Amino acid sequence: MKPAAFCYHRARDVDDATALLAELGDDAKVIAGGQSLVAMMNFRLARPGHLVDIARLRELDHLGIDADGGLRIGALTTHHTVETAPSRKLGTGFDVIRDAMAWIGHLPIRTRGTVGGSIAHGDTTAEWCLLAVLLDAEFVAQSPRGRRRIPADGFFFGYYTTALEPDEILVEVVFPRPAPHAALTEFAERRGDFAIVSAAVDLDVAVDLDLHAEGSAVRGGRVALGGVAAMPVRVPEAEAVLADGGSFRDCAEAAAAAVDPPSDANGSTAYRKHLVRTLVERACKEAVAR
Ligand code: FAD
Repeated sequence: MKPAAFCYHRARDVDDATALLAELGDDAKVIAGGQSLVAMMNFRLARPGHLVDIARLRELDHLGIDADGGLRIGALTTHHTVETAPSRKLGTGFDVIRDAMAWIGHLPIRTRGTVGGSIAHGDTTAEWCLLAVLLDAEFVAQSPRGRRRIPADGFFFGYYTTALEPDEILVEVVFPRPAPHAALTEFAERRGDFAIVSAAVDLDVAVDLDLHAEGSAVRGGRVALGGVAAMPVRVPEAEAVLADGGSFRDCAEAAAAAVDPPSDANGSTAYRKHLVRTLVERACKEAVAR
């Protein structure tokens, strides 16, 4: 199918883009890499009357470590740019982000799809959304009223629903601290498909202890899941097991017991819980071995 007719606007800069959005109202949508929006328009799931193209705004294409040791990623940075970023740009302790890119679609999608587009789209199994929730990312959004920072914790509201206002553009994502013992893993029916369930963990590991004795060097950690609710979620019940010195298996069992995933054509509730059990334990093992 072809999309419904629309008017095309190429923004000169971010100010121009937000002014256009404010002027055109709810009938306008930003287009970045087009890897999600164009498919939705072709299926007539989205019918914006106006597209505001930000793809050429180089000011939104940056990647680097800031003075506080955080990782700042411009919204137009592609998945592939992150996947192939040299260590001097990505810094140490952000390998989990680089490695997670391999799970996103196929190479042609990763060379066009953007970090900002993925987060603004807000798919519950999107790797960027899961990483942001796991690692306490902050999003910088700009509108004609200025800039504001939105914590990932309060950004995702439900299926494809975020805190962004219609006239706001996501300009930057900030991961505030390195996560040297973090890992993301998932299960999809075919390589390149969206995950049915994804799991990510960020472990607090005592480096002076034996890293390979499972759990013994782990003082606590964070556990986040995608594909079990309308948005990626942290699982405090599983994190409590890690804080109490429990095994990875017990942590995974606690995660599976805590969630109530939806049942749909991609998997039943019981199947998704089974995936949670397997993937959380796997992610913990990968994270502690880093
Ligand atoms: P677009 O498609 O241009 O836009 C998506 C939405 O975000 C639109 O609503 C748009 O208005 C809005 N938007 C875009 N940029 C901004 C901005 N800066 N500020 C505010 N709003 C903005 N993704 C995954 O995470 N994991 C996968 O496994 C995966 N598999 C895929 C497989 C296929 C076959 C395809 C086609 C896509 C897949 N994707 C997957 C989606 C891909 O990651 C997209 O790149 C991403 O979801 C959207 O990025 P984009 O730049 O293409 O955004």
